[in-house]
Amino acid sequence: MAETKTKDMGLLDPVDDNIVLFHPYIPKKAIENVSQTLSTRWIGQGPKVDLFEQQFAARFAKGFSPLAVGSCTDALHLAYILADIKKDDEVVVPVFTCTATNIPFHYMGAKVKFADIQPDTMNIDPVHVKKLVDYKTKAIVCVHYGGLPCDMTELRRIADYWGIPIIEDAAQALGATYLNKSIGAISEFTTFSFQAIKHITTGDGGMLTIKDESLLDQAKRIRWFGIDRSSKQKGTWENDIKEVGYKYQMTDIAASMGLAGLEEFDKIISHRRKILAIYEQELAGVSGIKVVGANYRDREHAAWLCTVIAEKRWDLQKKLRENHIESNQTHYRNDRYSIFGSRRDDLPNMDAIEDKYLVLPLHMKVSEADVKRICKVIKSGW
Ligand SMILES: *Cc1c(COP(=O)(O)O)cnc(C)c1O
Repeated sequence: MAETKTKDMGLLDPVDDNIVLFHPYIPKKAIENVSQTLSTRWIGQGPKVDLFEQQFAARFAKGFSPLAVGSCTDALHLAYILADIKKDDEVVVPVFTCTATNIPFHYMGAKVKFADIQPDTMNIDPVHVKKLVDYKTKAIVCVHYGGLPCDMTELRRIADYWGIPIIEDAAQALGATYLNKSIGAISEFTTFSFQAIKHITTGDGGMLTIKDESLLDQAKRIRWFGIDRSSKQKGTWENDIKEVGYKYQMTDIAASMGLAGLEEFDKIISHRRKILAIYEQELAGVSGIKVVGANYRDREHAAWLCTVIAEKRWDLQKKLRENHIESNQTHYRNDRYSIFGSRRDDLPNMDAIEDKYLVLPLHMKVSEADVKRICKVIKSGW
């Protein structure tokens, strides 16, 4: 693995005046819902999963088909199968993302071509995507880094020219919009995460939203071994299995938490947006630091991460830590991991900022006073 210029400082405890980088948010109702579900017949995949899918789609993916799964990684793998990606096929993917976006291609033996980032957003750069896509490309994958949507109009133009689907990894972008359209109701496939520290958590969980309704039956089968559960539950238990499936379903225990999260979603996103807006205001014009992806008018940020590009990143990280504030890189360029081969040399924007970006605390436990304290420390210099 490539060397990094950072050192591991370990984690702070979420006590006293410590401000931790991530913390789960569990609505009280989630505890009640789970407890109620635990006393019913269904704790695995049952009626709560159906209800969660319906309510999720009504809110984030109107007219699209929702499929609740065990994680966003499951959702990504299913999306890649439904997009008919096979062994040796090529896909154009973001180099800068959670490794979960790209690891499922290894399950399938598909080949990834890494696209560079845009320096201002750290999202995939459509200019580079256009250069990489050719007749061998089966799909374009994008990730809305930190919760800010990618340039979907430009990506759509490329995808339509080649007649290939777009798969959006929206794990960080629940509640984001692009040209007034909800992320989740734009491309052929969109995936979401309910992992511990995402906007809404189900412990672990995910959702896939599918544009083409006719793929939903297949999606449901491959979510569960390849078995058609609807016919099984009608009493026919001897059905054949004609395709390989996985065990990627969500449980009713998880869905009960998800339902409570949906109820509080407005509160969650408005708090996150408020904290991000304070970072943007306080740090505007401060020399040596810039908030990533600020001031876009054509899209709404889901405010999952506040990332800054900072000179002398390590010194800033150390200074924050001396003031009991955690910060970190969170994700790394994926071509530094051995499983993806070797470091690519055609990613100049990634090269330019790989030692400069830093993620600051942004979650439900970060108060307005906390974020002002963090900005004050930063403004005092590092
Ligand atoms: C969290 C995350 C994932 C993985 O989600 P899981 O639900 O843990 O599988 C994938 N992609 C991105 C961009 C993420 O932030």
